[in-house]
Amino acid sequence: MGSVFTPVGQSVPRSFSRRLSRKFSKDLAIDLGTANTLVYRRGEGLVCNEPSVVAVRQSPGGEQRILAIGAEAKKMLGRVPSAISVIRPIRDGVISDFEVAQMMLRHFIKKACGPRSLSRPRIVICVPSGSTSIEKRAVAESATSVGAGEVHLVDQAIAAAIGAGLPVTEPAGNMMVDIGGGTTEIAVISLSGLVYSQSLRIGGDKFDEAIIQLLRRRYNIQIGERTAEIVKIMVGSAGCDTEVETFDIKARYLTAREPRAVKITSADINEAIAGPIAQLVEAVRLALEETPPELAGDIALKGITFAGGGALLRNLDTYMSREIGLPVSISSDPLKAAVLGASRLLEDSTLLSMVSMN
Ligand code: ADP
Ligand code: MG
Repeated sequence: MGSVFTPVGQSVPRSFSRRLSRKFSKDLAIDLGTANTLVYRRGEGLVCNEPSVVAVRQSPGGEQRILAIGAEAKKMLGRVPSAISVIRPIRDGVISDFEVAQMMLRHFIKKACGPRSLSRPRIVICVPSGSTSIEKRAVAESATSVGAGEVHLVDQAIAAAIGAGLPVTEPAGNMMVDIGGGTTEIAVISLSGLVYSQSLRIGGDKFDEAIIQLLRRRYNIQIGERTAEIVKIMVGSAGCDTEVETFDIKARYLTAREPRAVKITSADINEAIAGPIAQLVEAVRLALEETPPELAGDIALKGITFAGGGALLRNLDTYMSREIGLPVSISSDPLKAAVLGASRLLEDSTLLSMVSMN
């Protein structure tokens, strides 16, 4: 039907209609993380912040039925019967289960858009720098299949740097270290482009695994992933603690059936996570060595910015700064830096065109 403002037989100029639809469209920015998925809706703010976890029931015929997605599914981790699997489809920064990852992304987009979407939104999605072209295509296809008009993929570290307020468009070195669940993205950015980028398979998950292994070796006990993560967040700290705390943990002895309270110390936890932290220090040193001297000089002056949930580990900034010999600061809201950066791209199409991977 023709608009009342348009004489019959004359169409609205395309650029005008595109501008108009862009003005009213509820575009989305998505951080599809290994641990958490965040969705920002233009004009509304953060509309979804959920763990990237899916609970699936496997039928005897081999079909998969989704039971829960997000926070509800994460609660089931380690607590399900054998017919149910709790899956983290992007565990190590790579999509390990395409089908489930696509279902999850579609679910979050639908949740963010509500039951009726007025227009085909533009969607900006952050992906790890190490993603393969197949993974990127799978992510873009999931967004298209739920009605995206335009899909832009952007590097996670660039998005985090923009979200942290780094002057990425200037001809100067900016170093971002985004410590997520499955990966740490290390990037040096100048003139809106990546000068150096490395996606390491070390992140919060490796810290949790290291805690599980040390407690198993030292005390002969088994704890689950969820407990390890909670202990890390509550008592974990980088470097030696001057005060050692002792606390009880509910765990199962490898030789017994019943769980019991076992006394462990903060020194145990810090010793466990020291390994992955040392690997992060090494990787940052290597990045600095491989950065061209002018840009490395800028970073030496301005320091390194950390983002991602892993950056919240107690004392990590001070410890890394001492080990590397450069100032380290943590972005103001490290868990949201990437999605905030992606949301700024929705407002700045020039910058978006410079950093978009497609
Ligand atoms: P991703 O981008 O991969 O989804 P996030 O940036 O959301 O990851 O970070 C999730 C990781 O941060 C998890 O491993 C989680 O345990 C860890 N984390 C969150 N808060 C803290 C904290 N206060 N201390 C230490 N680690 C934390
Ligand atoms: Mg992330």
